[in-house]
Amino acid sequence: MFTYKGTSVKEFFRRFPDEYACLHQVFESKWGRSGFCPECKQAGGNWYHCRGTKQYQHRCRARLSPLKDTAFYRSNISLMAWFYGLLLFTNCPTGMRAAFMRRHLGIGSNGAHRLCHQIRLHLASQQRTESLGGPGKRVHVDEVFLRVVVDPALDRRRLSTVLGLACDGKVITGVVPDRKAATIRSAINRFVLPGSTIVTDAARQYAWLAVEGWDHVVINHKIAFHNFDGITNNPIERYWSVLRRMLRLYRQVSDTNLWTFLAEAEFRYNRRHSEVSVFDEVIENFPELSPRTMPILRARFDWT
Ligand SMILES: [Zn+2]
Repeated sequence: MFTYKGTSVKEFFRRFPDEYACLHQVFESKWGRSGFCPECKQAGGNWYHCRGTKQYQHRCRARLSPLKDTAFYRSNISLMAWFYGLLLFTNCPTGMRAAFMRRHLGIGSNGAHRLCHQIRLHLASQQRTESLGGPGKRVHVDEVFLRVVVDPALDRRRLSTVLGLACDGKVITGVVPDRKAATIRSAINRFVLPGSTIVTDAARQYAWLAVEGWDHVVINHKIAFHNFDGITNNPIERYWSVLRRMLRLYRQVSDTNLWTFLAEAEFRYNRRHSEVSVFDEVIENFPELSPRTMPILRARFDWT
């Protein structure tokens, strides 16, 4: 469990006064506690920071780079800027534009875009709610169309479909190819626990739910935004408005990167009432980010 160490600017610079403090944080998070050396397969032992590099050396003389397979690998931007970027991303309720990061961190435009993208990947790789609902719980399901840019040069845009599931203040969202019953069925079977009540609008693609034995509540929006028991589909509608507000800030979201924005919005939304410091969560967990893991990561949010 994390302790609340503070997310203020003052606290940040007290904890991370220089590059080494940031590097050491990554090292500690990845290997420090067990001291396990992947080279000689020994646990414990002495590790030394190699002066003037971003590497650590074990007593067996094996050298390790803590930044390998993280969002910060092979970057000219200082590690403090990366950490400060993470602080901004986790403190801000709506999102961070690259132009703001460029001015705020004093880096170039391309660097700022890459930084924001990599931070989004890092947030996407963090722990995620795997399933929703359960006996006696209501899972709200809905789709939304979001405008994305297919080709920035020609200003070609199209609508992308996103499916969302909400329960107990948590959401799971993903890009879907269409809104056909088969697509929705596979998402519901993957994320909703048996015994849940599923709340949807009156669209035809949800008709199979009752047939296949789900407890299905239909809100007919033509009549009212609630049914006769006062059940609404607001939990998921509310999230759509949060997501739309964030995407409006970013102005242009490309088709290929939409899933990273979904991941960012979902990460923040599901932790909005978190008792622990979200900043500490993201600087203590470094799941592998490499070309090998990228398709797996993408498949979590892109269900096409
Ligand atoms: Zn070793």
